Amino acid sequence: MEHLTPHHSGWIEVITGSMFSGKTEELIRRLRRAQIARQHVAIFKPDIDTRFSDDHIVSHSRQQLESTRVKKATDILALAKHVQVVGIDEAQFFDVGIIEVCRILAKQKKRVIVAGLEKDFRAQPFGHMPELIIDAEYVTKNLAICVICGNPAGFTQRLTNSGDQILVGETEAYEARCRNCYEEPKE
Ligand code: ZN
Repeated sequence: MEHLTPHHSGWIEVITGSMFSGKTEELIRRLRRAQIARQHVAIFKPDIDTRFSDDHIVSHSRQQLESTRVKKATDILALAKHVQVVGIDEAQFFDVGIIEVCRILAKQKKRVIVAGLEKDFRAQPFGHMPELIIDAEYVTKNLAICVICGNPAGFTQRLTNSGDQILVGETEAYEARCRNCYEEPKE
């Protein structure tokens, strides 16, 4: 789904799904197309995401775009002042302020594109993604492919025993699984 630059309006697009479903690739694709149209684009991600690269967003397929890491969601407002299209990656790691920040940016007539994991490895809502999905005009839910059976996969299986919700960048610790092959973690 592609959306044109708003005339006298902003909006929120959410790209979500499991790990390995191509969320960041899709975010990069939309932002690149905006750049080609000479729109001013800025990309933000939470400071927690340190995988591979410090100042770029990197999808698992290694496409990248320059991005700015921010400590808290409200930092985005000042940094995005003069841009038309705001990309936010790994949105599930942002504090609760991200909801209001997205609303403010959209009210400022900016196109806001948010990518993030909707479910954690326990299949519970991740961070503030539910509120962002509810608030958004457009939601794209990507599916991965189940590594066990090849069906469409909406779940993220953790392969290690750590109980933490966040294991940043350790992609080898996870697999995409379908509903049938997903095993609820025992605690
Ligand atoms: Zn399966």
